[in-house]
Amino acid sequence: MKDIFCRIIDGEIPSQRVYEDDDVIAILDISQTTTGHTLVIPKKHYESFLTCPAETVNKVMMIAQRIGQAEISILGAKGVNILTNCGEAAGQSVPHFHVHVIPRYVGGEGGFRIEMQSQDTSKLNLPMIAKEIADALKD
Ligand code: AMP
Repeated sequence: MKDIFCRIIDGEIPSQRVYEDDDVIAILDISQTTTGHTLVIPKKHYESFLTCPAETVNKVMMIAQRIGQAEISILGAKGVNILTNCGEAAGQSVPHFHVHVIPRYVGGEGGFRIEMQSQDTSKLNLPMIAKEIADALKD
């Protein structure tokens, strides 16, 4: 079964499109976490950022950058959050790669807050973890 973004791309479901080219569309997120919250989506289906070819990631991120700039210059945002959730455990609810471009306004419109809390690192072997990731990157 098609995911909801494939159905939007195919015109089966309406959306507020802010950008479209041969490879990418950008639409307003239906939830509007803050005003102007936009999703940048490759037309070809990839499950997430992690499985998307680099060339397509680059195209998506270049459009995300332009939309972020527009949110600041046109909508008056003071900053933007650019994020992509990969996998259900990370909060991904639509299994089709997309990048959120979320404008941030002074006064904190919307209930959006990213909190990164430190855990007790004394129990972690940080050199070993760093080596495991570093070794994986060599393959
Ligand atoms: P994520 O949870 O990172 O997978 O993000 C999926 C996003 O898609 C959510 O922010 C939803 O609000 C948004 N969404 C779901 N259905 C639609 C739709 N029909 N049109 C626009 N955005 C949608």
